Amino acid sequence: MRSPDPVDASAPSIGPGVPSGLIGPDDILRYDYDGLTAEFDRRFGKGEYHAGALFRSLYRRGASDPGALPEFSANPSLAQSVRGAFRYSLPEIAGRVGDETAYKFLLRLRDGYESESVVIPMRQYKSLCISSQVGCKMGCTFCETAQMGYLRSLDAGEIVAQVMVARHVLKEPIQNVVFMGMGEPMDNLDNVLQAIRILSDQRGLNIAQSAITLSTVGHVDGINKLAALAKNPPPHGFSRLRLAVSLNAPNDEIRSRIMPVNRQWKLADLKEALRGYPLAHKDDFLFMEYVLLAGVNDSREHAIEVAEYLRDLRACVNLIPYNPRLESPFGRPDKEGVAHFYRWLMEAGQYCRIRGTKGKDAMAACGQLGNRALKRTARPAAMAPAS
Ligand code: SAH
Repeated sequence: MRSPDPVDASAPSIGPGVPSGLIGPDDILRYDYDGLTAEFDRRFGKGEYHAGALFRSLYRRGASDPGALPEFSANPSLAQSVRGAFRYSLPEIAGRVGDETAYKFLLRLRDGYESESVVIPMRQYKSLCISSQVGCKMGCTFCETAQMGYLRSLDAGEIVAQVMVARHVLKEPIQNVVFMGMGEPMDNLDNVLQAIRILSDQRGLNIAQSAITLSTVGHVDGINKLAALAKNPPPHGFSRLRLAVSLNAPNDEIRSRIMPVNRQWKLADLKEALRGYPLAHKDDFLFMEYVLLAGVNDSREHAIEVAEYLRDLRACVNLIPYNPRLESPFGRPDKEGVAHFYRWLMEAGQYCRIRGTKGKDAMAACGQLGNRALKRTARPAAMAPAS
């Protein structure tokens, strides 16, 4: 097990919105290590020595003033140019709600929209559930986020900012990241992958790819794209990234009813994509999320169908007792119902686990993220195309 990356308490604390060392127009959190090095070359005729020093300081300590770094001490005018070119200003924390099991924080983005992230304490460390979009297009009927519709995708910097705020503002020892907040990561794959490059860089936040999970609704084109990239190891490939797929139903009839994506890609299409997905190690699994909805997908026959469907895949089913969204027509099965489903699946030969629910009382649990009012009151500025 990796030891936690210490958060440097002596680093200047960068409060949300507080001007930092970097005040230029270009959001530095969009750049991975190689990208930042290339920018230093292009803009200032400098290379990894300076760019790498800033990258390490920024991500490891949350300290962004190039003028404070020894690498820049002989060249104050370079520090000045870097300050004027790049911006580091974490979004303001617009709200925070939670209970002892988990808490959610909202970040106010430049156009008035908000991202939502959830800090989840685990035994040895903390996990952060992050958003890849504001809202979601997928329309799953049981999910709160779907109720607000799709507002926009987050850029890589906005995705990374969620982790930076958790680590360096809230001082949380985040060691694990799951893309299970608002949005469908495959619908914003380029930005999600760029964010993963940045999060997993050992010279920075150092969250191993194997501690990052991308959860998809079952977007087959996205899975195929990622499969090609998962053939190669990090840092250039994504072979250690964990893939979770929201199965949620035993057959096409039920899945199409609760997950509109299933009308585009049937279970057979999904299975074909999963068969082609490379697992890096013999002991790796594809994680199949299965939200248990009382009376909808939780019978013994359903468990047998699920086991049959997954028969020739190396899959681990994560059973998630439903967290009712606001005004939900669906119910949560009781503890016994969940235990039964677990047993039926295991008896049918399918490995599975029950995922404990955290943050349920704060609407911070899986599928409870989203702010419908935001859709109704979205500011005109929020609707303007990005310039
Ligand atoms: N769009 C991605 C990631 C966001 S949803 C996806 O579909 O996987 C993250 C997980 O939460 C998914 O497995 C989803 O099925 C589950 N989920 C959604 N709403 C839920 C709810 N109300 N209760 C429990 N789990 C839910």
